[in-house]
Amino acid sequence: MDPRAKTEIIVQGISASPGIAYGQIFVYIQSDVEVPSYLVDGEKRIDEVARFDRALVATRQQITKIKNEVEKNIGPEEALIFDAHLMVLEDQALIGETIREFESSGRNIETCFNQASGRYIKAFSEIDDAYLRERAGDIRDVAQRVLQNLLGQAENALSRLAEKRIVVANDLSPSDSASVDRSAALALVTDSGSKTSHAVIVARSMKVPAVVGVRNLTKRVKNGDWALVDGYDGIVILNPSESTLFRYGKIQEQKKSFETRLLEANRQPAVTLDGVAVQLMANIEKVEEVAQVKNYFAEGVGLYRTEYLFLNASRIPTEQEQFLAYKAVVEQLAPQPVIIRTLDLGGDKPMAGNADLFPKENNPFMGFRAIRFCLEHQDIFKDQLRAILMASAHGKVRIMYPMISGSEELVRANAVLAECKAELKQRGVAFDEAIPVGAMIEIPSAAMTADLLAKDCAFFSVGTNDLIQYLLAIDRVNDRIAHLYEPTHPAVIRTLKHIVDEAHREQVPVGVCGEMAGDPVFAPLLLGLGIDSLSMAPAWVPSVKYVVRAMKMADARALAAEALTMSSPKEIYARCDAFYRARVKVD
Ligand code: PEP
Ligand code: MG
Repeated sequence: MDPRAKTEIIVQGISASPGIAYGQIFVYIQSDVEVPSYLVDGEKRIDEVARFDRALVATRQQITKIKNEVEKNIGPEEALIFDAHLMVLEDQALIGETIREFESSGRNIETCFNQASGRYIKAFSEIDDAYLRERAGDIRDVAQRVLQNLLGQAENALSRLAEKRIVVANDLSPSDSASVDRSAALALVTDSGSKTSHAVIVARSMKVPAVVGVRNLTKRVKNGDWALVDGYDGIVILNPSESTLFRYGKIQEQKKSFETRLLEANRQPAVTLDGVAVQLMANIEKVEEVAQVKNYFAEGVGLYRTEYLFLNASRIPTEQEQFLAYKAVVEQLAPQPVIIRTLDLGGDKPMAGNADLFPKENNPFMGFRAIRFCLEHQDIFKDQLRAILMASAHGKVRIMYPMISGSEELVRANAVLAECKAELKQRGVAFDEAIPVGAMIEIPSAAMTADLLAKDCAFFSVGTNDLIQYLLAIDRVNDRIAHLYEPTHPAVIRTLKHIVDEAHREQVPVGVCGEMAGDPVFAPLLLGLGIDSLSMAPAWVPSVKYVVRAMKMADARALAAEALTMSSPKEIYARCDAFYRARVKVD
């Protein structure tokens, strides 16, 4: 046995989602990251080709199984994509090229297949025909599966963890995190990343602990190692001792009994001790999360991130596909409102395998994302807007544009929306003609021109995840500077106050839908600043409601007024923390 297995090792990272988990590790290696390359000895060469054949057969079986499941559970049309995947597997040119590469280079078959499929993907993604370009995504998906099979990783793909596991990865892309098996991930731990990366947002929505910025952990652990993840303090303990487990067991018991209290109180309305009602809404990204919205008594959806539909798709979903997804959410929640955010792809959320639509950029967060992308690709934008409008006939829908930087962009987006309305009218399709339209305020220029934007908006929703990164010039997914990402920086608090004042002058309500809204330590400060509603991962509603019910709005206003006079982010945080602890006793 590895002697290190007995030694307890404590590794410090950044706390990203609270909670404690103990279990075995599954190390997730992105298949396009590390494909080992080595020369294969003469007598082993025959095995190499047989190994390739076996991987192709296994891949075919897996895809056929998924296809049958999708056909049965979702529908034949949705299963068609897997026929395209099976066709890639039959592609003799790709297989032949891999074998030729192997024969000439003598390198292992993974390397040869990776190179051959890489050339195919590149060639397809450069073709000037949208249909053929989409095939690049299919080839990429299939190639990843074949590589996983060759590397013996298929059974443990993120979407189908064999058993409950702590997922350790060097990083999780949005498409990785979107496909995480939510029933089997005990915790997420990443070498890089920071508190508002998409992986963390997913972890918080699953209410599983997450620790990020644990440099090189993937290199220090292997599948099956035991670990304890402390998401409260951002610690990972490898091979925890009995006494550590006992200590954490006690902490967990305390947290569990507090959680029970939270859930009991959650049946009550979100009203402060001095009688002010607060609207607590939910952030979701897929239709299955509607059950959680209801379970946790959120008052509708304040942020429906529609990127999920696109991130793992091998092609852009059609208007009809999107309509069905939006309608399912809207119908199930009616008469509660659902704020559907138009596409926010790009930045930390590029669409996998679509290098033509999302070319590599030096500064993706300052680049071609969200509304900028949509205004340039109006065909994609219009399909989505029409799908949202059509869904508005089935419940209470609001449209929200992400990354608005100023009035002109808002006017342009609204002009496209007006065209979509006219087109639907012509087609005789029903929709809510008075659908409210709002903007996310997440760029400093939008905050500074909130008075102008308010004239054309029915509501604002502040995206603090981005607003903080742009205000403080802190890349929100860079772990090296994560300690500088401070929600209580005076610049953030003053900006929030400015947005609220300008919006309220025009009777425009202001919500917050960034991660700050779901943190019970920050919620009183936000409400005290005049924020009208908070939207968060459904599982966080009970924690925020608990503090809302334990505080007076007058005290929250005093807290905000005091914070506005303070200069140190750490001191402001300490004031918020003290405010929370004085009202909420965890033990
Ligand atoms: C935000 O920026 O706060 C937000 C809610 O949007 P996202 O995290 O999806 O960028
Ligand atoms: Mg954002």
